[in-house]
Amino acid sequence: MIINGKEISLKIKDKIKKEVDQISKKYNRLPKLVVILVGDDQASQTYVRNKERASQYVGIESQVIRHDSSFSEEALLAEIRQLNQDDTVDGILVQLPLPAHIDEDKVLETIDSNKDVDGFHPDNVAKLFLGQQCPVPCTPKGMMVLLDEINYDLTGKEVVVIGRSHIVGKPVAMLCLQKNATVTIAHSKTKDLPKVCQRADILIVAIGKAKMINSDYIKEGAVVLDVGINRDENNRLCGDVDFDDVKDKVYAITPVPGGIGPMTVTMLLKNTLELFYQHNQ
Ligand code: NAP
Repeated sequence: MIINGKEISLKIKDKIKKEVDQISKKYNRLPKLVVILVGDDQASQTYVRNKERASQYVGIESQVIRHDSSFSEEALLAEIRQLNQDDTVDGILVQLPLPAHIDEDKVLETIDSNKDVDGFHPDNVAKLFLGQQCPVPCTPKGMMVLLDEINYDLTGKEVVVIGRSHIVGKPVAMLCLQKNATVTIAHSKTKDLPKVCQRADILIVAIGKAKMINSDYIKEGAVVLDVGINRDENNRLCGDVDFDDVKDKVYAITPVPGGIGPMTVTMLLKNTLELFYQHNQ
């Protein structure tokens, strides 16, 4: 089975669109997301444009604030503090990576944890670990929704996550643990990675290396979620998994593009909506 993230995300976006429509009748303002982009990183520009387009599609008010790469840390923190105070703003997202002179941790800590639509604030990271209500990072949240969509019960299943980043690997491992899976987190220092992966009923791959994972890493009938966004030798978008090599061995797999990527953006909209409700209780 090829898990069609694009189609599933469209279905969810249409649901959100209806909800936003109801909100516009019931409340005197729309949910609002503010995205701050510092610098001219090409990939970031594309991601931000996608986020803006998706917000417009569902009717969420979106504002993108763009600064050139020389924008100071001090000015950025001041801007975030101002947005924290603005009652019309539900979600604040600072697009990563930031230029080297800006301390990413400081920036993430400055965003009001109740407007932290990416779920990267340390308070929200702690809440995720504790299993408490919080904005859940978008990519991991999207993966859990996809597993739900294919009615996959994680109870007692072996999950192997390759990658231990704060934005993907660690949070998705926590979410799988909450769903009663047995979870292993692998990384660049893991010994005999193929052997570790071969025990996975669900293999989550978030490495950032084009087509690194081939059928030698896959247990027959596994579910494979490919988070990677890379370019192959022909400059075509591809994942961390060698799709053609593994597709006949798996039970289900997400393609790249059209798998996890669209779900990430959709979960950003969902998080914005959830924060709006929280602010209007
Ligand atoms: P990251 O912060 O660069 O982390 C990469 C992880 O992969 C690290 O934990 C690293 O291990 C591990 N790794 C690197 N080489 C390895 C190897 N040879 N064997 C085993 N593990 C290895 O990456 P990220 O931010 O999580 O992103 C990963 C990929 O997902 C990227 O391609 C990114 O573009 C993509 N991404 C996609 C979405 C989406 O919406 N689809 C969202 C976010 C990210 P160490 O910790 O030991 O260095």
